[in-house]
Amino acid sequence: MRKLFHGISKMWGVAAERGRYRCGAEMGEVEAFTSAWMLVEDGRIVGLGGAEGSYGEDVGAMGEDEILERIDLGGVEVLPGLVDSHTHIVFAAPRHEEFEMRLRGESYEAIAAAGGGILNSARKLQVMSEDDLYAAAADRLKVMIAHGTTTVEIKSGYGLTTESELKMLRVVKRLKQDFDILIKATFLGAHGIPMEFKGEPDKYVDLVITDMLPKVVEEGLADHIDVFCDRGFFTVEQTDRILKAAAAMGLPSKIHANELGLTGGVQVAVANVSWSADHLEHCSEVEIDLLRSSLELEYGGTVPVGLPGTSYFLGIPYAPGRALIDAGLPFAMATDFNPGSSPIASLQMVWALGCTQQKLLPAEAFYAVTCNAARALRCEKEVGALAAGQRANFFTTNTVDAIKAIPYFVAQNHCDRVFVNGEEFLLK
Ligand SMILES: [Zn+2]
Repeated sequence: MRKLFHGISKMWGVAAERGRYRCGAEMGEVEAFTSAWMLVEDGRIVGLGGAEGSYGEDVGAMGEDEILERIDLGGVEVLPGLVDSHTHIVFAAPRHEEFEMRLRGESYEAIAAAGGGILNSARKLQVMSEDDLYAAAADRLKVMIAHGTTTVEIKSGYGLTTESELKMLRVVKRLKQDFDILIKATFLGAHGIPMEFKGEPDKYVDLVITDMLPKVVEEGLADHIDVFCDRGFFTVEQTDRILKAAAAMGLPSKIHANELGLTGGVQVAVANVSWSADHLEHCSEVEIDLLRSSLELEYGGTVPVGLPGTSYFLGIPYAPGRALIDAGLPFAMATDFNPGSSPIASLQMVWALGCTQQKLLPAEAFYAVTCNAARALRCEKEVGALAAGQRANFFTTNTVDAIKAIPYFVAQNHCDRVFVNGEEFLLK
C-alpha cells in the first residue's frame, strides 16, 4: 500500500542515494527539502521531494489512483529517526548509591575496583528473572523512541557468567521481536573481570572464548562482539584474542576503546577491522591518523564513536570530536545509556553535548547521531537518512529550524510523533 506523507514544512537529512554517510567537511551542512513530501510503500521510502526537486519516484508523475493513503502532517518539520549505536539498556537496577559516592569524591575506577560499577550491576542482574529484565528494558526503549530514536544497539555485559550473558541476549532477542524499530545485539561478555576471576583474568577470557561465545553464536543471539579494552579491564592482548575468536565464528566487532587512557584500543580495533571504536576520551594524533588511514582499507574503516553523555556524567574528558571531523573522519555519537556512567536515554541531549562540549556544528552533530551512527553498525543502507530504499523511520517536530534548535533548546524533548516503517509508533 502506498502512503503519501505531506504537510511537511521542512524535511531534513535527505539523500540522493541510499547508504550515504558523511566524512569530515561533508558533515557541515544538512541536505533538506522544503514544502516536502515522502512516498512510502511496504514500510520503505520509494520517493521524496519538495520545492528543490525530488529523489526516487516522483509523486507529480503519479496518477491519483496510485496513492492509497494521504497523511497530512500539518506543517511540521521531519527528521530521520535517530540511531543509537552504543547502549547497555538491559540492566537490573539504577546505581544511585554510586552516583552519590562519586559526588562525595570517589572515582569511577575506584568504585569499580571495590566491587561496584559493572560488578554491582552483574550481581543484581544475575538474580533477576528474564521477564523482569525484559519489562525494565522495554520501558527504557520506549523512552528512547519517544525522543526520536528508531535504531538501537544493545549490549550484554552485566551477566559475566555464561547463563546470565545468554539471559541478557535473550532479552534483546525478545525486544527485536516485539519492537519494529531496528535493534542490533552485541555480546559483551568481556565487560569486566568477575570477582571469582580476580588475579586470573586470562581464565575469564578463556571462559568467554570457549564457553560463552560458541553458545551465543549457536543461538544466533548477537550481531557483533565487544570488549572493554582499557586500563583495569581487558588488555590489548586479551582483546585481540577475543576479537579473533569471534571473527573466526563470523562475528564482527565494535569495541570500548581509550575511555581511561591511551591504552592501545584504537590500534587493536583497526588491526581487527572493527566497525567502530567507541569512547575515545583519550585520543591523540597517532590514533586519529590510524583511524583516518583505516578508511582506505578494504573493510572501509573503523568509525570513531564519541559518548559525550559519559563524559558529562562522569566529569571526564570528551572525545576530540572536532579534531576527528577535521581529520576527515565519519564521526558518530551515541548515548552509552547505562546505569553507571551515562543514565541518558536521549540522543537529542547527546546532540547538544556534541555542540557545546565538543565544538561540533549543529549539522555535524546531527550526522553523528544519524547516518554516521548507522555506519558504525554497518546498517547505513537501512536507516540514518531519508532516501529511496531506506526504512521509513522518522520523527516529526513542531520546533522550527530543528537542526539548530534541537541542540540549542537543550534538555527538552522536541520529538512529537514517531513513525517506524511508515506506521506511527504509539507510545502508551
Ligand atoms: Zn559502553
